[in-house]
Amino acid sequence: MLKSFRTEIDPTEEQKHKINKTIGTCRYIYNFYIAHNKALHDRGEKFMSGKAFSVWLNNEYIPNHPDKLWIKEAYSKAVKHSMEDAYTAFTRFFKHQSCFPRFKKKSRSDVKMYFVKNNPKDCSCERHRMNIPTLGWVRFKEKGYIPTTKDGWVIKSGTVSIKAGRYYVSVLVDIHEHKLTVNFTQGIGIDLGLKDFAIISNGRAYKNINKSAKIKQLEKQLRRGQRSLSQKYENFKKGESTQKNIQKQMLKVQKIHQRINNIRTDYINKTIAEIVKTKPSFITIEDLNVRGMMKNRHLSKAVSSQKFYEFKAKLKIKCGDKGIELRVVDRFYPSSKLCHCCGSIKKDLKLSDRIYKCDCGYIEDRDFNASLNLRDATTYEIAL
Ligand SMILES: [Zn+2]
Repeated sequence: MLKSFRTEIDPTEEQKHKINKTIGTCRYIYNFYIAHNKALHDRGEKFMSGKAFSVWLNNEYIPNHPDKLWIKEAYSKAVKHSMEDAYTAFTRFFKHQSCFPRFKKKSRSDVKMYFVKNNPKDCSCERHRMNIPTLGWVRFKEKGYIPTTKDGWVIKSGTVSIKAGRYYVSVLVDIHEHKLTVNFTQGIGIDLGLKDFAIISNGRAYKNINKSAKIKQLEKQLRRGQRSLSQKYENFKKGESTQKNIQKQMLKVQKIHQRINNIRTDYINKTIAEIVKTKPSFITIEDLNVRGMMKNRHLSKAVSSQKFYEFKAKLKIKCGDKGIELRVVDRFYPSSKLCHCCGSIKKDLKLSDRIYKCDCGYIEDRDFNASLNLRDATTYEIAL
């Protein structure tokens, strides 16, 4: 089975130039192929397949039109692929599955730069960068979204695309070809929460980073900055401040936002890296009702600042990378209310009860008890 992964990349100016050029050439060739076949059809001549067109283009057309030599400057595998795409569009038309192929407009075009692994070094992928044919090493905007070569994954092919001035890479891997190279310890359960960020059934606990002095200090700066910004707006209306002052303050506020965001993301990445390093045979988490929690206005800020969504998405990818089974337990599974010792359910457990006390004599930290129950849950879905 082939699985696709996508992430934003951060190409250099030179790489951007190459990508733009290749995509431009691909669009040109795609449209040329359609126009050429349309002309053949109008003259009552035979339809040309993608392969035949390629031969004609390289052996006849370009040699007779030296002004079109620039076609050859683009990555040939990508250009060839655009002919195949156009050919597929015709095939669908002939099978009455779609209308006559349309030209791709520059403004609203979904043309992508296709690439394929041809040499052993092609498409090799590290945590922060990937080797794309003709482009060389291209950096990722964020780490951890593409399966790495070191972990035994083989990227067969992919595409580079542009959307709203941003660049993305999308890759295909065969998940059956993945070679596992890990020794597993037993599974673990993770209880995610607001008091602590995560409690692991192996005894590790990860604090809520938003309670750290650094974040608190930055949030204070942020509040002050925002207040000053609105003050400057007021003054601007009165003619006592300038547009430039407002923009300067706005940039200041944005920078603080960015710093807070970076600290939170780093924390998530580090936490996941540490958890996965212990090589558990499986990880069980709760299917948190994040959307529901966001509706609660007392909780929404605390929840969004913990980035649970991002944590889960990244954990899922990391588990996939490492061949760790990720189990997701239904949100109605009473992980907190269940006694890990005797299995009875404490119905009157309040959110404020930090210690779980059972009638059977069992006493444990509430979240740690929950993480043990998650680890031992027998009803779960496996996240793929
Ligand atoms: Zn009990």
